[in-house]
Amino acid sequence: MSTAALYAQPLGRPTVSFEIFPPRTPAAAAGLWRTVEHLAAVGPDYISVTYGASGSTRESSRSLVRQILGETSVTAVAHLTCVGASRDEVSTLVGEFLDEGVRDILALRGDPPKDQPDWLPHPQGLAYASELVALIRQIEHGRCAEARRRPDEPLSIAVAAYPGGVASPTRGADVAALLAKQAAGADYALTQVFYDAAAYAGLVREARAAGVHIPIVPGLIPMTDPGRLSRLEALTGVEPPADLMARLVAEDDRLVRHRVGIRASVDLAHAVLDAGAPGLHLYTFNKYEAALDLLEGVNLDGGASSAPDLASGPWVSAPSAH
Ligand code: FAD
Repeated sequence: MSTAALYAQPLGRPTVSFEIFPPRTPAAAAGLWRTVEHLAAVGPDYISVTYGASGSTRESSRSLVRQILGETSVTAVAHLTCVGASRDEVSTLVGEFLDEGVRDILALRGDPPKDQPDWLPHPQGLAYASELVALIRQIEHGRCAEARRRPDEPLSIAVAAYPGGVASPTRGADVAALLAKQAAGADYALTQVFYDAAAYAGLVREARAAGVHIPIVPGLIPMTDPGRLSRLEALTGVEPPADLMARLVAEDDRLVRHRVGIRASVDLAHAVLDAGAPGLHLYTFNKYEAALDLLEGVNLDGGASSAPDLASGPWVSAPSAH
C-alpha cells in the first residue's frame, strides 16, 4: 500500500515507521542491514532513508532504498532535498528514483552544508520544499501523460513539519510553509523531533485552523542516550526535557538508564496518540533495540519485541545523525 493510502483510509491502528540513514563506511553497512532486518520483522508501514546535505549521501541513500525495496517487503520512503543541485539535476534524480520503482518520497528543502551556515539555493535550483513537491508532481504527471496511462501505484509525497517551531522565525511561518507544501501536492507530513505532546497538539491545531488537512505524523526519538539528545539539540534547537536529561546523565547503570529513557518515550508516544496522532515515526539512529522497546511499550511492535542487548545496545555506541 502506498504511504499516502495508509493515511487516506481508516486503518484501525496507528501507523508505525522508522527513519534510518545510509551507512558511512562498508563496515557500518553490515550492521545497518542487521538493524533493517530487526525493524522489518515488526512489520512497519515504511522505513524512510535520509539524504545527506549537498547530496553527500546521494549514491548510498539510493542504494539503501533499492536494497529495502528489493530485499524486504517493507515500503521505502526516499528523502530528497533541493541542496546543491540545479532544477535539471533534481529532475534527473527524481526520474531515476521513479525508474527504480520508488513511489514514496519525502520532499525537503534540506539543511545547508556544514561550511555554509545560511541557506542559499543553487543559482538554478529550488528554494523551498514546496517547489520540490510541485516539481515531483509535474515529472510524474508528464511521465503518465507520455505513457498514456495511470500509474500502477500512486506516487506519495511526504514533507516536514516542526512542532518545535524552529525551522522558521515563527510558528505562523512554519504553518504557512506547510500549507504551501500541501497546495503543491504533499500527502502527509512527518515532524521533526520534539519532547512535549502539547507542542505537537498545538502545531496540529494551528495547522488545521490555517487549512492544512494532511495527516501530521509525529517523529519521536527513543530518549535513552543523553549524548545523542544533546547533539540533536545542537542540530535542531529543540531542547530535551531538563529533568529527564539530569536523570539520564546521573545514571551510571546503562540498563536502568535505558529503562528510564524508554519509560519517558513511551509516555510521550501515548500522549501524542491520545492527542489523535495518526501514527509514530521513530528516529532510530540506525539502532533497533530502543526503537523496538519503545514500540513494545505502546503495544505496536507486532508482538516481536527484542530483549535489551547490552553487548550491542544503542547506549554503547553513539554515532550522530542528521
Ligand atoms: P521548507 O518547507 O522549504 O521551509 C524552509 C524555510 O523556508 C522555512 O523557514 C519556511 O518558513 C520558509 N519558506 C518555505 N516556503 C516559503 C515561501 N514560499 N516563501 C518564503 N519562505 C518560505 N535534511 C536533509 O538534509 N536530509 C534529510 O534527509 C532530512 N530529513 C528530514 C526528515 C524530517 C522528518 C524532517 C522534519 C527534517 C529533515 N531534514 C533533512 C531537515 C530539513 O531539510 C531542514 O529542517 C530544512 O532546514 C527545512 O526543510 P523543509 O523541507 O521543512 O523546508
